[in-house]
Amino acid sequence: MPHPDTWLCVRPEGLYCAPGDFYIDPVRAVPRAVITHAHGDHARPGHEAVLATEGTLAVMRVRMGEAAAGDTQQALAYGERLTVGDVTLWMEPAGHVLGSAQVAMEYQGSRAVVSGDYKRAADPTCAPFVPIPCDVFVTEATFGLPVFTHPPAASEAQKLLESVALFPDRTHVVGVYALGKCQRVIAVLRSLGYEKPIFLHGALMPVCEVYERLGVRLGDLRPATVAGKAALAGQIVLAPPSAIADRWARRLSDPVTCAASGWMRVRQRAKAGGIELPLVISDHADWPELLQTIDDVGAPEVWVTHGNEEALIHAVTLRGYRGRALRLIGYGEEEAA
Ligand SMILES: [Zn+2]
Ligand SMILES: [Zn+2]
Repeated sequence: MPHPDTWLCVRPEGLYCAPGDFYIDPVRAVPRAVITHAHGDHARPGHEAVLATEGTLAVMRVRMGEAAAGDTQQALAYGERLTVGDVTLWMEPAGHVLGSAQVAMEYQGSRAVVSGDYKRAADPTCAPFVPIPCDVFVTEATFGLPVFTHPPAASEAQKLLESVALFPDRTHVVGVYALGKCQRVIAVLRSLGYEKPIFLHGALMPVCEVYERLGVRLGDLRPATVAGKAALAGQIVLAPPSAIADRWARRLSDPVTCAASGWMRVRQRAKAGGIELPLVISDHADWPELLQTIDDVGAPEVWVTHGNEEALIHAVTLRGYRGRALRLIGYGEEEAA
């Protein structure tokens, strides 16, 4: 059985599967790309052939335009098997954002799984992570330090609702990424019984429409841009993190500035960003989830793509697995593109 390091390697373009002649989440335009999910650091424009789930392709088309999302686009359903060159390839949910997938590859009886970004916590807007037993598990480590433990998203969203009740004349503006975080915050608020309109910065609307089209109910969403200051008093407004720091937010009525991110676990980070109400809501696995997942897939060898590689590799070594840092460049900033 060939070891995966003989057929899966790091090139400047990204992770390359030689017997299938394709790249996974390449950072440069390539002839054949397999894309785990539509965040800008994983889904780049300009590839010739793109293979991804329907959800990922739909978001890519909306964000970068039909032409840039791949000259040819092939959708693969979760669990559907495909022969690419000498490799059998399939995808299973990664639980990260709508359409997010792990890529499983089998070559001459040897199996590698590339997680992409993932989490194990419940998320009503995407299919839950499925552990795939394998010989090499390629994992991210965004929150790969023991200090990172994420509370349940519902309890964080409850804090937001309590603050809204406490300050009924103020606008609560929440910094969220356009893909994933935005829709998850909305869906969790809805699951807590919040049925009032939720106001959105214009940059957030297109991806919400894709989610709705693919069956994720988000309720009454309205553009924040056309609503007056008075109409936004006491309301929840979602905006990209960059917008809440700038003059865009000044149109709001005495805003309470919030942000939903795993990084909000770091107090100084919230403070430096001027965040009054930090909400620890992450779409990445926290430290216990990373270790749990490595135990679940049972791979004797774990490769770490990006994030806090050293700490995770140290921890997996102590648990009896072999760890290796791939040090892939160009990942980690979700909205890089
Ligand atoms: Zn991502
Ligand atoms: Zn990422």
